[in-house]
Amino acid sequence: MEYDAVIGMEVHVELSTASKVFCSCSTQFNAPANTNVCPVCLGMPGVLPVMNRKAVEYSVAAGLALNCTISRWSKMDRKNYFYPDLAKNYQISQYDLPLCHGGWIDIRVGGVTKRIGITRAHLEEDTARNTHTLSGGVSGIDFNRSGVALLEIVTEPDISSADEAFAYLTELKRILQYLEVSDCNMEEGSLRAEANVSLRPRGSAGFGTKTEVKNVASFSGVHKAIDYEIARQRQILDSGGTVVQETRGWDADRGITVSQRTKESAHDYRYFPEPDLVPLAVDEAWEARIRASLPELPQARWRRFQEAYGLSPYDAEVLTASRAMADYFEATVAAGAGAKPAANWIMGDLQALLVKNGLPVEECKVASGELAAMIRLIDDGTISGKIAKDILLEMFDTGQSPTSIVEAKGLIQISDESELERIVAEVVAGNPGPVEDFRNGKEKALGFLVGQAMKASRGKANPKMINEMLLKALEN
Ligand SMILES: [Zn+2]
Repeated sequence: MEYDAVIGMEVHVELSTASKVFCSCSTQFNAPANTNVCPVCLGMPGVLPVMNRKAVEYSVAAGLALNCTISRWSKMDRKNYFYPDLAKNYQISQYDLPLCHGGWIDIRVGGVTKRIGITRAHLEEDTARNTHTLSGGVSGIDFNRSGVALLEIVTEPDISSADEAFAYLTELKRILQYLEVSDCNMEEGSLRAEANVSLRPRGSAGFGTKTEVKNVASFSGVHKAIDYEIARQRQILDSGGTVVQETRGWDADRGITVSQRTKESAHDYRYFPEPDLVPLAVDEAWEARIRASLPELPQARWRRFQEAYGLSPYDAEVLTASRAMADYFEATVAAGAGAKPAANWIMGDLQALLVKNGLPVEECKVASGELAAMIRLIDDGTISGKIAKDILLEMFDTGQSPTSIVEAKGLIQISDESELERIVAEVVAGNPGPVEDFRNGKEKALGFLVGQAMKASRGKANPKMINEMLLKALEN
């Protein structure tokens, strides 16, 4: 039998507020264990939470960017369960009245746009972090993470493949990073993704039994885990078995999902309204202020880059991958570089240097204005494109301006005719074999001779002029 996969994603992102959601403790990552704590986030009896206004604003900003309706009135609820990472024995979350609901984002897979519904995005607190790798057979609990503001974003079951799940996560991360509401650093746990996966006979409308896949450390891991889970469920169904509703952990080393626990239902958590916090009321004026503060979002920028700069959809995609990259490109163009050469240099040589050195563009020593200056030096014939590659490398390492590098190293392109004539004459005299070959119709020999002339000028000859002058000399 053929099956369709039905996938929904649940993503938790840590909001990048300076302090936690219900107390004033710092959210700094990697502080010594249990130093960013207070009676509130340690769950001491009798303490009272106070809502972090910034956490609400970040959540609303994210909700608006995900095309959600913002609730005029919502509330916090207690989700009760016992686990060592939860000192209060309940997590403050949102149950039936989430802050944001009913949104969507568009993803592109294989050139096709698909709309993924966002069921809800709600605010809650993070739990402490358990560590089971300490020596002496003991486990540790670090409460630094306890009470950090979390936004849980849940999709409709609109995703049909691992590729679509990957595209959804990439787009969601891009939006949240543009908003600067989360760094979405998966390695540090600021973004955690879970997938609900089920299969149904192709074309049918009902839903099969779903499993929830957790413990995935990267987007490519999510892709692999979903593919594995689809294959596993297909095998069960094909052999006449039934899929068990459960939570399964992804074991990246073995490339399989492993049963962790059978899935709880909502009523197991005995949700009830949090009595220590007043309801959340976001009025129209507040929502409007937050909406007005939103930056241009990635999809809008992607379209504008194609229209305003004549870039291909692919180039616009690469250059809007991060807000910093898009800003860098626009600053380079504003400083006088042509859009197409700026795009080519940034996506080509500069990107290669950034990747090789593991640097984000924000930390690049080549200021956008200096890159534009380098491109102008190529345009006006001062340097060749070949020499520019070496100059860019020097700029990347030292942060020097292209003009000072050109002057210090004497790299100005030779466009002086008499000097080029001399080089051409030398090359023709010194390579009788290839010259003969060219005159006998082997046109490839010209490339070799141009190469020799460029070499003789140590890369500084104007390649266009060399080409023309060699051709003339050979035809005579
Ligand atoms: Zn605290």
